[in-house]
Amino acid sequence: MDLIVRNARLPDAPDRTVDIGVEAGRIVVIEAGLAAEGEELDVGGRLVSPGFVESHIHLDKSCILDRCQSVRGDLPEAIDEVAKAKAGFTPEDVYARGKRTLEKCLMQGTTHMRTQLEVDPGIGLRGLEGVLPLIEEYRWAIDIEICVFPQEGLLNNPGTDELMVAALNKGARVVGAAPYTDSDPHGQIDRVFELAREFDADIDMHLDFGPSAETLDLDYVCTLADRYRWGGRTAIGHVTKLAGASPTRFDAAARRMRDAGVALTVLPSTDLFLMGRDCDCNQPRGVTHTHKLIQHGVNCSLSTNNVLNPFTPFGDCSLVRMANLNANICHIGAAADIRECFNMITARSARLINARDYGLAPGKSADFVVLDCERTEEAVAELAPVLFAYKRGRRTLTRPAALLHRPPAS
Ligand SMILES: [Zn+2]
Repeated sequence: MDLIVRNARLPDAPDRTVDIGVEAGRIVVIEAGLAAEGEELDVGGRLVSPGFVESHIHLDKSCILDRCQSVRGDLPEAIDEVAKAKAGFTPEDVYARGKRTLEKCLMQGTTHMRTQLEVDPGIGLRGLEGVLPLIEEYRWAIDIEICVFPQEGLLNNPGTDELMVAALNKGARVVGAAPYTDSDPHGQIDRVFELAREFDADIDMHLDFGPSAETLDLDYVCTLADRYRWGGRTAIGHVTKLAGASPTRFDAAARRMRDAGVALTVLPSTDLFLMGRDCDCNQPRGVTHTHKLIQHGVNCSLSTNNVLNPFTPFGDCSLVRMANLNANICHIGAAADIRECFNMITARSARLINARDYGLAPGKSADFVVLDCERTEEAVAELAPVLFAYKRGRRTLTRPAALLHRPPAS
């Protein structure tokens, strides 16, 4: 065999250790005491998990704090500041910043990514031209797909529609949206579904980003997902309005999403940073409770979203940290619930982006990480570091475990 990972503890069966055999980039066998020869990695009973899945991140506008301000720290300031900065973006600049962020993701064990990408008459296709080369250049370590979206509006911003179409023709595989910046939010959602059907593309929209659940665009998205049978191919991100919904309204929205097959990515860092700005004290968290949606049968993921820009002036690209942050924000303490946080950066996230060649099972691509812990709940609670990452059976990352240098005994 090309590779045998010895003494691995798997996420769903942490009480025993197994060996994982890899050939030609694929997992071929998982069993205890595997009788085979080949290159070996003994992980000493540590957790081996499928690689992490970044279901919603913005490579193109990451790492721009040196040219933007974040003083008020609210959403209008973030949109204004990034809009101004975008005017100066070149493909080379986007490429260099995207590369920096992407490599941070790789060093945290991410093996799959859906990156959001903006088009409008101001930026044109320069963002796309900067990010596209990264897909090929880093194929050895990660599968990346692009979701193109109109951050500054579609129907109110002439020329944007043509750029959306051009990006889809040039390699973007998912259609995105930001209806809350459009003069006609439902018109934008209509057009996004039309483009998705035309290009046979999945949908992933920024949606319902605000404090109050009085009006929810997700009802309309669910209606169209039903009408066009786009369930399982339609995801929405943020939906912070649900964090402010009454239990009755929340439950109704959850049932609607479950029935329509609409999944949600929560962006804990951004949502926590941007929401609650209008309150003088006891600011609400503004982060929608994923576990309550999961209880209703809605698929949810957790993701990084923005890195070092006015939408989120933080970011180490660690999805384990996002899982931990989510557990903190949402009062998650039970071991089973913490394990669900880990599922939302792995299996659930993979399902949301329809990454079908994913998971630790014979026949699947050998994309996995080794963490310095034994169980997924430990990974989340203790922010266990990733020690190794593999993509298609080839090692892509080694991070030596920290070592204490004790003084010699006297
Ligand atoms: Zn986003």
